[in-house]
Amino acid sequence: MSRLIVVSNRVAPIRAGKVAAGGLAVGVYDALRQSGGIWFGWSGDVGASPQVQSETVGNITYVTLGLTKRDYDQYYRGFSNATLWPIFHYRIDLARYNREEYDGYRRVNAMLAEKLKPLLKPDDIIWIHDYHLIPFAEACRQLGIRNRIGFFLHIPFPPPEILTVIPPHNELLKTLCYYDLIGFQTETDRLAFQDYVTREVRGVIEADGSLTAYGQNFRAGVYPIGVVPDEIAQLAEGYKGRTHPMRRASDRRRQTIIAVDRLDYSKGLVERFRAYESFLDNYPEHRNNVEFLQIAPTSRSDVRTYQHIREQLESQAGHLNGRLSDLDWTPLHYLNKSYDRRVLMGLFRQADIGFVTPLRDGMNLVAKEYVAAQNPDDPGVLVLSRFAGAARELTSALIVNPYDCIGMAEALDRALRMPLAERRDRHAHMMRAIRAADLDAWRDNFLRDLRSFVSRPKGRAQAAAS
Ligand code: UDP
Repeated sequence: MSRLIVVSNRVAPIRAGKVAAGGLAVGVYDALRQSGGIWFGWSGDVGASPQVQSETVGNITYVTLGLTKRDYDQYYRGFSNATLWPIFHYRIDLARYNREEYDGYRRVNAMLAEKLKPLLKPDDIIWIHDYHLIPFAEACRQLGIRNRIGFFLHIPFPPPEILTVIPPHNELLKTLCYYDLIGFQTETDRLAFQDYVTREVRGVIEADGSLTAYGQNFRAGVYPIGVVPDEIAQLAEGYKGRTHPMRRASDRRRQTIIAVDRLDYSKGLVERFRAYESFLDNYPEHRNNVEFLQIAPTSRSDVRTYQHIREQLESQAGHLNGRLSDLDWTPLHYLNKSYDRRVLMGLFRQADIGFVTPLRDGMNLVAKEYVAAQNPDDPGVLVLSRFAGAARELTSALIVNPYDCIGMAEALDRALRMPLAERRDRHAHMMRAIRAADLDAWRDNFLRDLRSFVSRPKGRAQAAAS
């Protein structure tokens, strides 16, 4: 089998036996372990000159490099996280555009492609991950790299009217079309991309389903990222940590709601806190009987919008607890820390409700993890935003609109009262969906399509491009 070369913004070497955080890391690691290969990307170091370092563990070679402060500011903090991230999450109001940052983004992509080139063999398959690296394939082609190259977008793809707010949208999308295969989380994302290609640049959908635009012929497909349900069940069952942290003085168990998100404005935390407060106001019978544990590790804390949302949440949490807490009851536990997966899966299993309400999310693995961690005989209820990619598959969750505070409060009340038989039915249905599209399926389907893609003859593609 040809070697697999994975390129992602961050590379975290995974030691045998250590459980990795997040679907990207686990999925990429498993794929690499099967075929052997290279995982290439930024080491996370800033300020160093881009010196390539390599370390081989088993059949995987981790090749990493640092970024200069200027590259970090322009490529990572700037265009990736202050332009692309908000726009791709439909937040024009939070986005900024700066031409120097965009130039830095292109420059770092070109630099990474140059550093990768000497490591490649002719039959290697290259799989690029996420929005930081949209122009990577074009940079490779300019260097004469002819290998098959696929791209997977972990975040949503916005409708054309939103995308075109980015001044160089046309140039950016042109670079995306240099991939042989472009993977999206949901059909909504794929259609938004296809809409842009066919309407903005008069690209063509070929009879075989491939697309032709900007002189390139490529495929776009849907590959929802999944989890490893058996591993999650094992971690959840094996967790021996604190059992139900929240007890009442009477020692009757309080019901618990859990939410776990990076502290990001796309996750809908402000709206969620508001909904929880409205729930306690409108359904006072639940007061003192329920507690909400929100785990929200800080991320990108050097980007201004992230500092702002953090302040807002601290103020909301303080207000809610100050107004409603009692001597033996704290309604909201708000923790700005990250936890090991083992702990999280154990906490998920103990919680009566998984409260997952992003304003917009590519997939949201926490939703799938919460379901997979449940005891099938006595499962909790997932309350899920319709704007998470996961809502496409987890249709037996209580689906809510995160902008509807009262609707979310109603869903919490319904979930806390849901009879066992209904909880079991909903859980079994969601588990079938989770098993049908697990992490193996995501990786295998993408790589199968990338390996089998045969580009249409160049002349035809060029003739179709305008
Ligand atoms: N996670 C973790 N520890 C934490 C918080 C989150 O291991 O303290 C993991 C979580 O279990 C999930 C991933 O990080 O696997 C987050 O993925 P998701 O798709 O939900 O959101 P993202 O952060 O990628 O936007």
